[in-house]
Amino acid sequence: MILYALVCETCDHGFEGWFANSGAFDRLAAKRQIDCPECGSREIAKQIMAPAVRPSDKALPQQPDPEVIAREIARRVREHIAGNVDYVGGDFAEEARAMFYGEQEDRPIWGEATPEEREALAEEGIPAMPLPAPFAPKKPKAARRREQLN
Ligand SMILES: [Zn+2]
Repeated sequence: MILYALVCETCDHGFEGWFANSGAFDRLAAKRQIDCPECGSREIAKQIMAPAVRPSDKALPQQPDPEVIAREIARRVREHIAGNVDYVGGDFAEEARAMFYGEQEDRPIWGEATPEEREALAEEGIPAMPLPAPFAPKKPKAARRREQLN
């Protein structure tokens, strides 16, 4: 026995029918011996079915997982900052201001600023932006040692 999903070509009603084998449906349909339970039409066809079974994982292209991608981006940003951007700790506002007013050579820096300092920088038009936590690398060891001594 074989179960087919069928569709009425007159009223679009979908239904199922059991047949002895795949040839049985074709023979009955050709003789117009299958009728629609909804409207009685004899214009019945097999529904085009998408396979319900999932192909093996190997056959599927690798689906990128957004979370994995986000973590990887964050890791690269952290690495880039750790390798290319000077950590200035709590001196961030001071250093940013000195560079902005040309008292000091421009260089990329990161560090901490109090909310008051952040506000002052913004008011003076000094470009600085918060570094989202996932993008912040670990503070350099030397800086952490200094903090512990203070
Ligand atoms: Zn019908």
